[in-house]
Amino acid sequence: MNNHLALSVLVAVTLFVPSLAGAQYYSDYGWYRAPAITPSGPPDIVFPVQGGASFTDDFGDSRSGGRVHEGNDLMAPKMTPVVAARGGRVVFAPTTEPSYGYMLSIAGDDGYEYNYLHINNDTPETDDGNGGPQYAYAPGIASGTQVTQGQHIAWVGDSGNAEATGSHLHFEIRLPDDSAIDPYQYLNAALKRYAYDVAAAKAASPTIDSDKGLVAAPTTVLFCVPGLLIRTPTNQSVYYCGSDGKRYVFPNANTYATWYKDFSTVQTIAPEDMAKIQLGGNVTYRPGVRLVKIQTDPKVYAVDRDGTLRWLPSEALAVKYYGSSWPKSLDDIPDVFFINYKVGDTVTN
Ligand SMILES: [Zn+2]
Repeated sequence: MNNHLALSVLVAVTLFVPSLAGAQYYSDYGWYRAPAITPSGPPDIVFPVQGGASFTDDFGDSRSGGRVHEGNDLMAPKMTPVVAARGGRVVFAPTTEPSYGYMLSIAGDDGYEYNYLHINNDTPETDDGNGGPQYAYAPGIASGTQVTQGQHIAWVGDSGNAEATGSHLHFEIRLPDDSAIDPYQYLNAALKRYAYDVAAAKAASPTIDSDKGLVAAPTTVLFCVPGLLIRTPTNQSVYYCGSDGKRYVFPNANTYATWYKDFSTVQTIAPEDMAKIQLGGNVTYRPGVRLVKIQTDPKVYAVDRDGTLRWLPSEALAVKYYGSSWPKSLDDIPDVFFINYKVGDTVTN
């Protein structure tokens, strides 16, 4: 970032964003008293730019006038969603664009203050500077809003003097005394935390037992031999016998195919024996094998342990993990089976 940018960012923050801890704080919606929370550990954050961003450790870089850069610049395209690195309360979100651009300040529930600068000020697809708050902040985000970690709060832009340098998010973490700390290591930790690796995901779940974390129930008489695949002569459904003695049904052939090559090891048992075995639930996709989407949701997800879906927010990420022919690895999960899955952290790198 050039010197003008950093200088002006620093001035903006020091002039307009006083310490939040325990302070009366003015916003468009009135005065708040931010709770004085003493941080009890290092910032535990998610990456504030959805899909990641390129950045260097530019904290403390010297700027003109003897100033230093008090955050990290996260380079990303305009209108990339900005998410709350940490949950907390929005304490500053000007609805009239200040000279330093749109920004958000959040008093984190961990005692740190998180600042997001150069938020979008343009009508999408333009550089007109007339976007207004509706293209700066996510719907419902305003001073006073309580946000959760990872919640969409704003869009990346080039407001303020980022107009000259390209769109990016200037991200800051501040202590209760308002001094800035270098966010670099916490941003890197956030990226690692949400890393996804196909081979690792698959290796972590060699069996349905391990995928679901099923453990043996020693006091139960088992009608279902753990690890066995079973069916009845009259019904097409195939079940997996879990370590817990319960049977888990494969909801469709696609799910089955992520775990087994064929049906050669499926054993047929009598319907009355099947009836003695308690149903445990549905088998979900084996992690790291296929990409999935929901029929009524265009997002593409990678699969992690125990039916945890992790959104791949860009095609580049789908290509990275499943190659340029990734659409061939993509299955539709019928909406009725979506209840078997949970949406986890977004994949960011
Ligand atoms: Zn900056």
